[in-house]
Amino acid sequence: MTDLKDIIDIIYIVAAVLFIVGLKMLGSQVSARRGNMISSVGMLLAIVATLMVKGMSFQWIIVGMIAGSIIGAWAAYAVKMTAMPEMVGLFNGFGGLASLLVGWAEYEARPDSPVVTLVSIFLTILIGAVTFSGSMIAYAKLAEKISSKPVLYVGQKLINALILGVIFSLGIWFVVAPLETYYIFLGLMALALILGVLLVIPIGGADMPVVISLLNSYSGLAACAAGFVILNKVLIVAGCLVGASGIILTQIMCKAMNRSLANVLFGGMGATAGKTAEKAEGEVKALNAQDAYYILEAARSVVFVPGYGMAVAQAQHVVRELGHLLEDNGAEVRYAIHPVAGRMPGHMNVLLAEADVPYEQLVEMEPANSIMPTVDVAIVIGANDVVNPAARTDEASPIYGMPIINVDEAKTVFVLKRSMASGFAGIENPLFYLDNTRMLFGDAKATVQALVNEFKSS
Ligand code: NDP
Repeated sequence: MTDLKDIIDIIYIVAAVLFIVGLKMLGSQVSARRGNMISSVGMLLAIVATLMVKGMSFQWIIVGMIAGSIIGAWAAYAVKMTAMPEMVGLFNGFGGLASLLVGWAEYEARPDSPVVTLVSIFLTILIGAVTFSGSMIAYAKLAEKISSKPVLYVGQKLINALILGVIFSLGIWFVVAPLETYYIFLGLMALALILGVLLVIPIGGADMPVVISLLNSYSGLAACAAGFVILNKVLIVAGCLVGASGIILTQIMCKAMNRSLANVLFGGMGATAGKTAEKAEGEVKALNAQDAYYILEAARSVVFVPGYGMAVAQAQHVVRELGHLLEDNGAEVRYAIHPVAGRMPGHMNVLLAEADVPYEQLVEMEPANSIMPTVDVAIVIGANDVVNPAARTDEASPIYGMPIINVDEAKTVFVLKRSMASGFAGIENPLFYLDNTRMLFGDAKATVQALVNEFKSS
């Protein structure tokens, strides 16, 4: 006869399959929304199965669920769409913190656990703490509560390596003599928290996407280690999936930034060794909406290049409207997406999908660059770093080597932004001074709306 444990295991397997199917479906924009739902159903099943475990005390689970739901619902309502990336950063951190607390609670409850459990507790504390404090710094940088500039000092890598060495030494001591090392345990936890901070502060603004995806992966690994601590199979599987997909995302981001993973792991990137970036030269040419309309009206090929400013202005719907008007006018319209545009992976894809921009009009960076010399007008909407030609030419630039969308190769470039201010990487953009560039100053939504009005009134 099948007993309760078998039923729970079967539900766990179904949940794991749903996670994997859902994850696979996230690979395409067409199926991503359904994929998300399928994974959520998997999570619901996992929770139900866990509640079926015998001897489970429900009162704390209910307290946790109520508290978590209130905070989650409040955060979802209160957070502005533009603050989503910071929120994702915070969620990564809380994932790490939750795993850390699981490891800590298990040690408090059973300090004489077997060695395998103690090793898992140690790893949970180490990865969970680094994820938590590292994510808090990433959050502060994304929310611009602290400067996004890299913080560098002499011997930085050596100090990090020493701290990691001390943590592992204390970890071995803890595993060998868990009953006598309570304060050692607390000490290694504090050091791991410090390490998380030290690993993220040297990372400069432009390189943050790699860090965000790496911390996302760490949060999965921490959950996986926590799964070994409490011997929960579905937590192990879910943690592995988050860890592995986070690493794949990290590699995609590394490729997009043209950085090696080693560069990321050992920190200090995004900084240039004392070189001074070139000063942009030339004249800035501003244009009003009416003159811009005359150029657009004659254009046969138009590429929109959205960036973080489009998210701030919430201009995606009106951009789509302008896209339709251009198409009706006989132009071919495409949307070129840089992998690190915005403040979180997939940020622009989400916004354009929300505005129902057809998927077939979205083009990735490489195909976009191959057609760029044939494009009549490239319209840069609140993007800056991802279209900065200094990445190709200026060795002293912090973004040197990062592939960009080569809008400067289009016949005409419109740049929609409010001022001459720099982007997240904090560097000047020579694009704004080129002969074929015209600046359309103002809030992106208002400017695009003005262009739409010109089309409609003509
Ligand atoms: P940037 O941050 O380089 O530039 C955004 C531009 O938008 C600014 O120059 C700003 O100029 C303009 N802007 C802001 N608000 C508005 C508005 N209301 N209307 C019009 N323009 C506006 O953005 P990019 O998308 O080009 O680059 C992303 C940067 O963020 C990269 O450096 C990337 O590495 C980094 N990053 C990306 C992450 C990711 O996962 N995608 C995560 C973390 C960092 P002005 O103030 O003059 O209007």
